[in-house]
Amino acid sequence: MRLCCRIQDCWNRPIASAPGAWIDVMDREDIAGKYKSTRKLGFTGKLQRCLNLGSYNYLGFAAADEYCTPRVIETMGQWGISTCSSRAEGGTTPLHQELEELVAEFLGVEDAITYGMGFATNSASIPALCDRGTLVLSDALNHTSIVAGVKAGGAAVKVFRHNNVRHLESLLRFHIAEGQPRTHRPWKKIIIIVEGIYSMEGEATPLAAIVALKKKYGAYLYLDEAHSIGAMGATGRGLCEHAGVDPRDVDVLMGTFTKSFGSAGGYVAGSKRLVDFLRRHSPAHLYAASIAPGAAKQIISALKLIRGDDGSERGAAKIKQLHDNSNYVRQQLLDMGLHVLGDWDSPVIPIMVYHIGLLATLSRMLYSRHIAMVVVGFPATPLLLCRCRVCISASHTREDLDYALDAIRDLVRAAGLDYANKGGGGG
Ligand code: PMP
Repeated sequence: MRLCCRIQDCWNRPIASAPGAWIDVMDREDIAGKYKSTRKLGFTGKLQRCLNLGSYNYLGFAAADEYCTPRVIETMGQWGISTCSSRAEGGTTPLHQELEELVAEFLGVEDAITYGMGFATNSASIPALCDRGTLVLSDALNHTSIVAGVKAGGAAVKVFRHNNVRHLESLLRFHIAEGQPRTHRPWKKIIIIVEGIYSMEGEATPLAAIVALKKKYGAYLYLDEAHSIGAMGATGRGLCEHAGVDPRDVDVLMGTFTKSFGSAGGYVAGSKRLVDFLRRHSPAHLYAASIAPGAAKQIISALKLIRGDDGSERGAAKIKQLHDNSNYVRQQLLDMGLHVLGDWDSPVIPIMVYHIGLLATLSRMLYSRHIAMVVVGFPATPLLLCRCRVCISASHTREDLDYALDAIRDLVRAAGLDYANKGGGGG
């Protein structure tokens, strides 16, 4: 299970601006002298402009956008800030209906349901889909919201090694005979749960191989596309497009709007039967307020821009820019001799540090070079696999990226992180 916890001396400073390519980050003071027993950190109140390599603002929609923002403001003028009601009560507006139609159409499936929060999309939809008669096969690095959902549903869980298709197949083979119907005893159903792009690894799931397995063994597949929708695939349609998989072969397509769309909330998309079932049984649909109208309008506008409804190529250009930026930075980091994780086109690029004692220093050094980057250590990663994580956005210019790469190059020299350049010993 992944615990989303970052070590204390990281980029946990207050931010005082929208999460665009550059952000204002508060400076920190060491106020150790004021406390006898513990070392404490305070904030000076001074803001420093930093290059933002920490947000999930992959397509650059989080800061003001000339197409989205006026539409959001107009919507808030008309609909207010909150629906103050769940979807099943008074919280369904024409905006919610339009959004769900757009999401389903964008993904190429029959229907979609949206929720006010990405975390709750997992933690409250998964329990509706599984019960004590369900076996969940969950990737070892699945997000906490998935783990919470599986626990709440009361399903039996087996964790397979991260992205390890052989291990997954061995579990399937153990639990269900090849070619058996989904009702194979003792399980009413088996659900495989994976993520499109893993947020701490930048790696894609081997989707085509997993789809083949789920068909072979009659299991269901649940795919969390929080980090891949909008960001992966030539037209931003996520990992199915990237991997050349028919989206209808994934039983449950889940995603969030907090990354590529610069908004809030989440969705589940798939067959009409699935979505109708969730409309009747998912607690977050029945008992939690629907997506705020302004947030819904932001997603609708971003989706329309990506589709080119405004008659321009701006949306498509953002996706291409994101891939170009990500691949440029990845190549440069590899050329520096760094160990980086993840796949081409992925906007998440973890740089392996391996030495937990270096993390705090690296975080401070990056800040002193006006770079805001998340550094991640135990327990969010195994003890020896700590890392700095670069998050790329389409809103970064080549100049921004070169600025960051120069600073990283200096850090690499200072901290000796260029492991790939260091020849192995041996006699
Ligand atoms: N799923 C995954 C894979 C995530 O990484 C996250 C959060 N980053 C969520 C779900 C929860 O999404 P949100 O932040 O939109 O609530």
